Amino acid sequence: MDLEVVTVGSELLLGFTIDRNTADIGRLLAPAGCNVVRSTSVPDEEEAIRNAVLDGLHRTGMVVITGGLGPTADDITKKVVAGIFDAPLELDSDYLEKLERRFAKLGRGPMPSVNRCQAEVPSGATTLRNPRGTAPGLWLEGKIGTAIMLPGVPVEMRGLMEGEVLPRLREMMFTGNSPDRVTKSCTLRTTGISESQLAENLSAVEPLPRSVTLSYLPGVDGVDLRLTIKSAAGDEAAEALDRAKAILLPTLCDRFYGIAPIALSEVLIDKLRDARMRMAVAESCTGGMIGARLTEIPGASDVFAGGVICYENTSKVRDLGVPSSVLDEYGAVSEAVVLAMAKGVCRRFGVDAGVAVTGIAGPEGGTSEKPVGTVWLAARLGSETRVARRWVPGKRSEVRKRSAQGALDLIRTMLAGD
Ligand code: ATP
Ligand code: MG
Repeated sequence: MDLEVVTVGSELLLGFTIDRNTADIGRLLAPAGCNVVRSTSVPDEEEAIRNAVLDGLHRTGMVVITGGLGPTADDITKKVVAGIFDAPLELDSDYLEKLERRFAKLGRGPMPSVNRCQAEVPSGATTLRNPRGTAPGLWLEGKIGTAIMLPGVPVEMRGLMEGEVLPRLREMMFTGNSPDRVTKSCTLRTTGISESQLAENLSAVEPLPRSVTLSYLPGVDGVDLRLTIKSAAGDEAAEALDRAKAILLPTLCDRFYGIAPIALSEVLIDKLRDARMRMAVAESCTGGMIGARLTEIPGASDVFAGGVICYENTSKVRDLGVPSSVLDEYGAVSEAVVLAMAKGVCRRFGVDAGVAVTGIAGPEGGTSEKPVGTVWLAARLGSETRVARRWVPGKRSEVRKRSAQGALDLIRTMLAGD
């Protein structure tokens, strides 16, 4: 089943609110076999709403509309859609009573009169229960198609989608005798390899099952590879995705670290736990990011001992025992210093695993020999040490994030025995 989404709200176009509703709707509907084939955002203006909804109805016969159902003057979705369906607004006295009871229960005085309009529904529409707010969802069918109106507040919209809309859509598809077809995705997460290098490596693998599409989703932490299969029977979809995964994984080798939404820090914590090891971090330019990423994961205390943010040189000497002579001779951003940091932090915390980062995050401080983005990473595991020099492109925040990811990945690959 194909449908379109129309999100209503001037704030979406002015850039003050990021449209989450379209994303949530797409994610909720795909596994149920409904495809969002187009989404449009329009301002709170009659003409714009009317045109977007009419266009969507003409193309697919079904439109989900979010926003503009509230009681204030800028909320005009219901009136506009009622006009399209030639379904005049009528007072739903049952709903009005429910609304009044809701306000009485809240105990904040009588219901404001502006809320009364929320009990007005287009003639023939079904009201959809919204336990999280005052505006009901509305399901309106006519010769022209079906319009499903939902409140703009994301949590209300999602509740209505899950509780009221999805069951109705499933029933429609079922009674329409269309087989149970679904859209499924699976995302393989990689890091430490560029999008173009991945594409080149993967160009040599055997073709994926025809129905599976592969998308490259690059980000600061790496490139996600999303496999999607559309409109397939449930078992068939799962099998095709498994086959595609089996084709890609050998080529991705150790650049693959898990299936989304898993984070690299979570993978690392699991590996350390399996290896019965504890870890500490010595962070200069990342300023605590690595520790933050590890402690984001519940249960991190099983493996994470702590860390030192040794931002200035005196801290590197005092807190980690980096010899001043080494700092003087090679500079803070150097192989010798990062190695001494990793060794020092393991000793300080009495652990057998550690990572260290020192680099020039910019925008100042670069030289021709050590330009902005120069980063040294070190990882220790027992008596083994690995060190890497990277040149990380991007702004300060990117250099820091990529360095943190690089350090986590360096020790992950050591633990994997690669
Ligand atoms: P209410 O009954 O609360 O007035 P409503 O249906 O009238 O709901 P809006 O007034 O359009 O909805 O929006 C309510 C809130 O939800 C606003 O803060 C708005 O920014 C937010 N919102 C609306 N649409 C979206 C969207 N597509 N994505 C994320 N947030 C949204
Ligand atoms: Mg609005």
